[in-house]
Amino acid sequence: MVELRNVTKIYHLGGEEIRALDNVSLDIEEGEFISVIGPSGSGKSTLMHILGCLDTPTSGTVKLDGIMIQNASPRQLAAIRNQKIGFVFQFFNLLPKLNVLQNVELPMIYSGVPARERHRRAMAALEAVGMANRAKHRPSQLSGGQQQRAAIARALVNNPRIIFADEPTGNLDTHTGETILQLFRSLNAEGRTIVLVTHDPEIAAVTPRRIEIRDGKIMPKPDLRLAGLRN
Ligand code: ADP
Ligand code: ADP
Repeated sequence: MVELRNVTKIYHLGGEEIRALDNVSLDIEEGEFISVIGPSGSGKSTLMHILGCLDTPTSGTVKLDGIMIQNASPRQLAAIRNQKIGFVFQFFNLLPKLNVLQNVELPMIYSGVPARERHRRAMAALEAVGMANRAKHRPSQLSGGQQQRAAIARALVNNPRIIFADEPTGNLDTHTGETILQLFRSLNAEGRTIVLVTHDPEIAAVTPRRIEIRDGKIMPKPDLRLAGLRN
């Protein structure tokens, strides 16, 4: 589903070169549930931006669902993102002036789905995350966990091949975070490919596969010993 070969990303800051990703190769198969773990500054966001077609590498190749994207224009990247990828963020990124239903309909407005079909699919996605009875609430009228469920519904409505979640439980209490992880688990059990970025080894421990990144490189074997967790 995703294939990275010798991907390097260099940022230029003043006169300095920052090698945020250093010769990274990686394969993600359809149906996998993967966590990407690493300390702050290790390159997780850069990796997610490239995997999520938000950015292109300085060198190397990126293939997503059969499409080579390393040379895609920003416009082509936007179209690929909208069709193939669902995003979930730490701070939910719901629009405060829209209700839950309208927030969930947004990605379909960008992809030109007719109004009646938008409504039907948004309600089905809200149903899937247990939020159908909150469709008319504004985000500010919901708990954090409910806001994240709404954001997950929004990530699902275009039926993406893969979901990227960046610290999705980072702004939730432990119990609520666990219910959100459980939701990702059930979405994965239905066959969705999920990549979850976290700095928390306990969260990474719930996924069947882990990728550890340090100084822009993927470690040969993720090391969770410090957290006392099985590998
Ligand atoms: P993480 O998500 O693991 O915290 P990042 O991918 O954000 O790591 O950052 C990796 C490295 O690249 C860091 O040294 C960071 O300072 C640098 N970096 C990230 N984005 C930029 C940018 N736009 N310009 C310059 N340096 C950046
Ligand atoms: P939970 O314990 O379910 O995570 P809360 O205790 O924050 O959530 O909220 C309990 C219920 O009250 C939720 O169903 C939520 O929709 C509703 N609610 C929370 N805050 C508001 C608000 N500001 N306005 C209207 N309803 C709210």
